[in-house]
Amino acid sequence: MSTERAEAIVVGAGIAGAATAFHLAKRGLGPVLGVEARTPAAGATGRAAGIVSEQLWDRWDVEVVRESKVEYAALAARAAPGAYRVNGFLRWTAVERAAAALRPRVEELRAWGVDVSLIPPDRLADLLPAVRTDDLLEVAYAPGDAVVAPSDLAEAYLAEGRRLGVDWRLGLTAGRVVRRGSRWAWEGGGASFEAPSVVIAAGAWSKRLLAEAGHPLPLTPYRTQAATLVPSEAVPGSTPSFDDLDTGIYARPEEQGRFLAGDGTEDVETDPERFPPGGDPEFVAHVAESLGERLPAWADAHLARAWAGVCVSTPDRRPFIGPVPGAEGLHVITGFNGFGVMRAGGAAARLAELLADRGSRARERLRSVEPGRFPGEVRPFPPRDGFTLQAGDAPEY
Ligand SMILES: Cc1cc2nc3c(=O)[nH]c(=O)nc-3n(C[C@H](O)[C@H](O)[C@H](O)COP(=O)(O)OP(=O)(O)OC[C@H]3O[C@@H](n4cnc5c(N)ncnc54)[C@H](O)[C@@H]3O)c2cc1C
Repeated sequence: MSTERAEAIVVGAGIAGAATAFHLAKRGLGPVLGVEARTPAAGATGRAAGIVSEQLWDRWDVEVVRESKVEYAALAARAAPGAYRVNGFLRWTAVERAAAALRPRVEELRAWGVDVSLIPPDRLADLLPAVRTDDLLEVAYAPGDAVVAPSDLAEAYLAEGRRLGVDWRLGLTAGRVVRRGSRWAWEGGGASFEAPSVVIAAGAWSKRLLAEAGHPLPLTPYRTQAATLVPSEAVPGSTPSFDDLDTGIYARPEEQGRFLAGDGTEDVETDPERFPPGGDPEFVAHVAESLGERLPAWADAHLARAWAGVCVSTPDRRPFIGPVPGAEGLHVITGFNGFGVMRAGGAAARLAELLADRGSRARERLRSVEPGRFPGEVRPFPPRDGFTLQAGDAPEY
């Protein structure tokens, strides 16, 4: 088996890997080789809802979403028309405990420069006429939030990366990453590639790849579901996305007057090679029941399709981005805890800065997500929701 050589290898053509390869090439690091076991966006990226929101619980995430927004808007304008659309994002509750959690979060977000405010519940009818507002206590609204088409963005990153010289190899078998002397190699299905730097951007598969490379990190893949529904009255594309704090349901407008709805995290580990890819009847029933109560005008919506994807959780619900401890040249960008589409562009730009410059500014910009923050034995842990209102290990909302 002959071995091809590169300066950096990126493993995985989900949105994180596609963006990382693009940014590495943009910074002049090369040759960059991308390897994808399946097809672009074949993992979580191709199954994501595509909500992009700065209503988050960590300041680093807010900054990275903001950087991603700027990049996605420009990328869509250049290469993927319609793949980025500003429609705003709402969070609401009719429960006092959740309202008490929402108020200080909005204050903190505003202090971080996020354009979000509490609006009178009856104003919601102007933004989302389908919603029943009579019992709502608080509504938070961020008009600058957006929706994206995640697969289109990944494809656009791939295309722009190729133009900058990235050599993407697609449809390979699921190979593995191994150490070869002072270099790293990706090998599988008769192919072999070697480089001083490898970036594992393999989503839920990263856990296995890192363990096989001899450098495991605490990661738990888990399943999460979404559905597209068709209401009798078309939902305008300008309708804000929302997260109902009381039911755990989120939704966004889709093409052709449809909307996409999902709920949170299944709290058991899932093997990304063996998971039920369709939506469960219980999930579909939960979505229908929850929406029917809060949005009676959508209660007659029929199901177009429902599906599941596999995301990956970390013990503190923060991603792993940067050098893998004790493994010179091995890097990772994963552990997005279910909201990686909205952060991939900014996160990849920061990682590429680190690989290209190795300076203290680049290290500082990834400090809070460095993969070495859980030294010692890797222990199993249950996945938890990532896209929450509250910070901490076990947020109620
Ligand atoms: C139902 C659902 C809804 C979601 N909604 C949102 C949302 O609204 N907003 C948001 O921000 N996020 C959302 N997410 C989360 C988001 O999809 C992920 O965080 C993000 O797509 C992760 O991207 P990734 O590139 O890290 O991983 P992936 O997209 O999973 O890509 C990993 C890639 O690596 C490849 N690979 C695996 N093993 C190998 C190997 N050995 N060699 C080569 N290639 C390999 C895979 O084939 C795959 O293409 C949602 C996810 C789901 C499932």
